[in-house]
Amino acid sequence: MNADINTVVLLSRDTLLLKQLQAAFARSAPQLTAVLADDSRAAHAQMAACWFPLPGSLGALPNLQVIHSVAAGIDHLDHDPSCPDLPICRVVDPGHRQGMTEYVRWAVIHYHRGFDQVLSHQREQRWERPLQRAAGQFKVGVMGLGSLGSAIALDLAAAGYDVRGWARRSKDLPGVRTFAGADGLNPFLDGVELLINLLPLTSETRGILGRATFDRLANGAALVNCGRGGHLNIDDLEQALARGQLRGALLDVFEQEPLPVDHRLWSMPGVTITPHMASAASHDCIAEQVAENFRRLNSGEPLLNCADRLLGY
Ligand code: NAP
Repeated sequence: MNADINTVVLLSRDTLLLKQLQAAFARSAPQLTAVLADDSRAAHAQMAACWFPLPGSLGALPNLQVIHSVAAGIDHLDHDPSCPDLPICRVVDPGHRQGMTEYVRWAVIHYHRGFDQVLSHQREQRWERPLQRAAGQFKVGVMGLGSLGSAIALDLAAAGYDVRGWARRSKDLPGVRTFAGADGLNPFLDGVELLINLLPLTSETRGILGRATFDRLANGAALVNCGRGGHLNIDDLEQALARGQLRGALLDVFEQEPLPVDHRLWSMPGVTITPHMASAASHDCIAEQVAENFRRLNSGEPLLNCADRLLGY
């Protein structure tokens, strides 16, 4: 095999990730040569596998035919303004769904059973049992019913929660009341006690977690943001928490990651921070899916997990 034509270039500002991905390609896709941007063979690469590519890096690749995100989202490609207008694929790892399901299950039980309240009571040596209600009386709303959101909604419905979901197009998910499009947003939000965001970050969804959304929820609702930091309006969150419209927020994603040490979110009352840990595609799965799309590209077969560039996901 000619190494030059089987070259994939790995692009990221995260140098540790680049090393880990190179090792994963060597293990799980040895038919490909995974090189970094400073390698002369990068000029021959037909495919780039990216996570927050450095500005200018995509535009410098003359033979590029496909851009592959190594994550579920593609919004990080916007960090390179030289990103050419080529097909974009993403990684959809079944393990992603498992990780996200575990994370969200914890969050739902945390707020449904009132662990947030008892943890704060413990700091005051206060013995006070939070109101306990059956899962079927607890209204959970899932924003985004794609690969991850639909799995979450189905899992919570199977656990007995009163689940509703919202997407751009209508969906049929057993046990889940679904709403679609801009007109469906307010009816979806009305009275939700725990709102879980699993939308992609696009021009339409940026800032969607703000006052207009919070005010439709049940008074004292909680928020879980597993989408992207750009979905959240932090000023509106702070005010909603101060007013008691929201009783808490579990945040896994931030506009700037790592979250700067002096960021006000770290100490905002009611906010729990996790370091973008809800789920991640395994490095070996990334290598296998990029390699499969590389094979498809060269045999003229349709690529898997293509994103719609205009829609932004
Ligand atoms: P996906 O399969 O592309 O699904 C996106 C969903 O959002 C779809 O149901 C889509 O509706 C809906 N949607 C998009 N724009 C919308 C709009 N304007 N109004 C209403 N609904 C809209 O994405 P996924 O794989 O489930 O991942 C979702 C997001 O999770 C990713 O983009 C990423 O930001 C985030 N994520 C976070 C982590 C983490 O560790 N925190 C890990 C992985 C992913 P249609 O079905 O009608 O198209």
